[in-house]
Amino acid sequence: MQCRHVSEVDPVPPRTRGCEECLAAGSSWVQLRFCLTCGHVGCCDSSAGKHATRHFRDTSHPLMASYEPRERWAWCYVDETELPVPPQAVQFLRA
Ligand SMILES: [Zn+2]
Ligand SMILES: [Zn+2]
Ligand SMILES: [Zn+2]
Repeated sequence: MQCRHVSEVDPVPPRTRGCEECLAAGSSWVQLRFCLTCGHVGCCDSSAGKHATRHFRDTSHPLMASYEPRERWAWCYVDETELPVPPQAVQFLRA
């Protein structure tokens, strides 16, 4: 399925180096996901907080990318499909 959201995002840098909500609460996470709409960093669905998915439910920001070192993939929550990371966002990912 084609994702039309990719053409609508203008990626911004990550706001935090870890999950924003977990850092505030002093809790830990498994893996990190990065919102390509606003730069929110949240934890994955294997983490207790599931803050990346919760961020999508709260904001409807459709696209996230993995914020794990060397991982290069993105996900559209609306189309439920994996995507290549938009070229403008690659610079923000972790080496
Ligand atoms: Zn999409
Ligand atoms: Zn979290
Ligand atoms: Zn967002």
